Amino acid sequence: MRWCPGSVLHLLRTVRFQLCCRRGKNRLPLWIREIWAYVRLLVQSLYFSSLTDSDVVFDSIFEPVFVTVDYVTRWFGMVFVCLVVILTSSIVVIAYLVLLPLVLNTYSPAWIAWHICYGHWNLVMIAFHYYKAAKTSPGYPPTERNNRPFVSVCKKCIMPKPARTHHCGICNRCILKMDHHCPWLNNCVGHFNHRYFFSFCLFMTLGCVYCSISGRNLFLDAYNAIETKYQTSAPPYTFKDKMFHKTIIYMWVLTSTVGVALGALTMWHAVLISRGETSIEKHINSKERQRITKCGKVYKNPFNYGRLNNWKVFFGVEKRSHWVTRVLLPSGHAPHGDGLTWDIFPVKKHLIPV
Ligand SMILES: [Zn+2]
Ligand SMILES: [Zn+2]
Repeated sequence: MRWCPGSVLHLLRTVRFQLCCRRGKNRLPLWIREIWAYVRLLVQSLYFSSLTDSDVVFDSIFEPVFVTVDYVTRWFGMVFVCLVVILTSSIVVIAYLVLLPLVLNTYSPAWIAWHICYGHWNLVMIAFHYYKAAKTSPGYPPTERNNRPFVSVCKKCIMPKPARTHHCGICNRCILKMDHHCPWLNNCVGHFNHRYFFSFCLFMTLGCVYCSISGRNLFLDAYNAIETKYQTSAPPYTFKDKMFHKTIIYMWVLTSTVGVALGALTMWHAVLISRGETSIEKHINSKERQRITKCGKVYKNPFNYGRLNNWKVFFGVEKRSHWVTRVLLPSGHAPHGDGLTWDIFPVKKHLIPV
């Protein structure tokens, strides 16, 4: 609501009229009640806004908590990245120094070839997608004035927001097709790095499941050996054996835990991608669906092109061979569109002939 001298005078006259009407009910002199009403109006004018709703009140009350969480996440960003690199490297070192000699000495040539090929392909995919997800800019709206269409204005940046753009409190700027801010990447996940983020989650989950399944028997042997050692102190148990068993247990517990947790996250994101929505849009679309359903209509997500086409748009698959070259091999191709304007039928134009 805009304040202007005319509207303030009108409000004061209204207040005075109301006070006159209530004169019989209140024993205070009129001039005191006039001053009191004026002070109340003055205080209300400091915070009143016609845009105030329950969300704004909630945000205002919890603003100190949000700011603290954002600050801590921003500060710990590099710590989380180092943790990912150190933990992943520790599994790779164990695979090379402990597991590979075991595989080479005990497995058949076919199994040796499988483990070497799959293990290295999976490792390359994890390293490539993690690096690209962390280093690629998620995409920001242009700061200069142009004729691009926008759907709203960011209250924090005071800048026009294109469709699917949201403000990140940690990066402190608007992000194109924002999905979420990932502390493990120390980067926002948006239009230009969403594919790298999802592929990293997918290949990291596959790597963890691979290590967990391949190392299951070794883990059981190591666990039983340690249990036996603690129950009967008879068998000779060298330092080398002890370290070997503890290393195997560390690897199996870590990969199994991460495999389950990251697997659940990857599945969640896979469901969202199938529906053509981001994590933020999931909440917006749920609210909108409820609202439209109450009006007796059916809500349709404008960015949902159908399950298979959503995946093609997401991975940038324009012909069949791209499923191999752009999905199963490292690829640095740009996503469809510029993230500012959203073509309603990109799939029909480019991807349907596949
Ligand atoms: Zn913003
Ligand atoms: Zn961010």
